[in-house]
Amino acid sequence: MSKVIWVLNDQCDIESDLLKSCSQEDHVIIVESRQELDLPYTHIKKTALILNVMRHFSHACLQFTPHVHHVTLDACAQHTQLEMMAKVSRQLGIFDVSMMTPKSYHHRETLKGMSEFKFTFFRDNNLISDEWVMWPWFKSKSFRMETFYQRLRISTGLLMDHNGQPLGGAFNFDKHNQNPLKTIPPRHTRISFTLDELTLKTLEEVQQKFSHQLGNLNDFNFAYDTHQARKACDHFIQHLLPYFGHTQDNMIQEDAFVAHSLLSSYLNIGLLNPYEVCRKVHDLVVTQPDIIASAEGFVRQILGWREYMFYKYHTLMPKLLHDANHPTMNPLPALYWGGHTDMNCLHQTIRDSLSHAYSHHIQRLMISSNFANLAYINPYEVHQWFLGIYADAYEWVEIPNTLGMGLYQDQGQIGSKPYVSSAAYINKMSNYCEGCFYNPKELTGERACPFNALYWNYIQDHKDQLKHNPRMNMMVSTYEKFSDVKKENIRNQVESIFERLKKGQL
Ligand SMILES: Cc1cc2nc3c(=O)[nH]c(=O)nc-3n(C[C@H](O)[C@H](O)[C@H](O)COP(=O)(O)OP(=O)(O)OC[C@H]3O[C@@H](n4cnc5c(N)ncnc54)[C@H](O)[C@@H]3O)c2cc1C
Ligand code: SF4
Repeated sequence: MSKVIWVLNDQCDIESDLLKSCSQEDHVIIVESRQELDLPYTHIKKTALILNVMRHFSHACLQFTPHVHHVTLDACAQHTQLEMMAKVSRQLGIFDVSMMTPKSYHHRETLKGMSEFKFTFFRDNNLISDEWVMWPWFKSKSFRMETFYQRLRISTGLLMDHNGQPLGGAFNFDKHNQNPLKTIPPRHTRISFTLDELTLKTLEEVQQKFSHQLGNLNDFNFAYDTHQARKACDHFIQHLLPYFGHTQDNMIQEDAFVAHSLLSSYLNIGLLNPYEVCRKVHDLVVTQPDIIASAEGFVRQILGWREYMFYKYHTLMPKLLHDANHPTMNPLPALYWGGHTDMNCLHQTIRDSLSHAYSHHIQRLMISSNFANLAYINPYEVHQWFLGIYADAYEWVEIPNTLGMGLYQDQGQIGSKPYVSSAAYINKMSNYCEGCFYNPKELTGERACPFNALYWNYIQDHKDQLKHNPRMNMMVSTYEKFSDVKKENIRNQVESIFERLKKGQL
């Protein structure tokens, strides 16, 4: 008996166990849902990347079965992917569905209501851990990412030696990584891809149909299949990995990518297998032990943070998202989609995001979400912006990062403290302040960096909560030692910042 195989747009893994189960009689269904692709603040490069990968993936599926149903944008204007998959399956008269377990909470909830179908769920190898093995442990008590990560290092053997000890003698090399920016490192050469005929056709169609979206399609340079994504991964490991760790937290005005891998969009769409990526890094460390600090810093991001965020997302949903909308807070200012700002760090970060549908982790955390947090911007709108603008953004990984790590809406269930900072951190880690209208060392006055007064204002507003946090109580004590005049000046400065923000004059 034939079955239908439903493939969601972030499951484009041609080597999946799901597709290995496909026979010549089976029907593969993949859907271009305009509704799901055209969210507020979506970057046009993200739309192009997803459609291009899906289209190449559908072609590749023909090796398994001639029955590949690729529902195009025009045929699916009003439906979600799952609604359309159900419709096509009904038309085929097939109710036996095989699919990978979706990573999205909403997809999982929708599937619960589709009782007319009989589902067989396959594991999505897009996560290294097997969630059904992990859940009992994860739910049993609350722990930080470090404990989670060490457990996965041990269970997978990644960056571990034959005696079960961590390579290099430690699980954590943070103190060797994340250095201040002292000199500007040379820019690394990035891999580039030739655009094939299908890509060119897709780009033309996306340009016609989504020209209202953010950004543009200039210099579109995303892989479209696993073969190309592996090349990007190998290029990173061979040429950039040794530089990753110590420049990991640097922000450089002239270099949007520093030594970051740019692999997140391939990992999240299903083109790259995260275990394979980490394994390649492991193999290199065995032959080149001196790169352990950088390699550990990189593996920690994928085996640690990426996996941890998935479990936190499912633990905190749907409440985390439901509670995020605060219409009385400040609306997302136009500077987030290219409006004027004299704040150089924000200007550069938004410019990079609009150009590439990408910015690296510290730009996201310590510039765009730090500012949104300190400026009391409605978290729901901030979430919509992060979900739309980045090519790698899917709710399961974007929500815990934005609402949890970035905006502290989870009250510390993900990060052990709010990731807020004044200009001092930005000045130490970047060269943004050198070319800025504002002065990072001033607290008040026309040219004072807005991050400074906003930061102390945040400490004042949250002091009752933060004084119990061992990583923040020093800042509360420092604030409390400020004179009344200084506190009053901060309040006035913040008022002026909010006024200017509202008028687009910050
Ligand atoms: C507010 C905010 C929103 C974010 N939204 C997303 C998102 O929608 N999608 C997304 O993949 N990442 C998100 N991140 C995490 C991180 O910023 C990106 O994964 C990273 O910038 C991708 O660039 P890269 O591939 O060059 O990463 P690298 O710096 O080269 O890191 C290697 C890989 O580690 C993984 N990784 C690193 N940090 C994280 C993290 N905190 N959570 C999950 N995976 C991580 C990514 O898969 C990444 O490709 C967000 C972070 C913040 C602070
Ligand atoms: S001075 Fe302030 S606004 Fe300007 S770049 Fe530095 S941190 Fe950003």
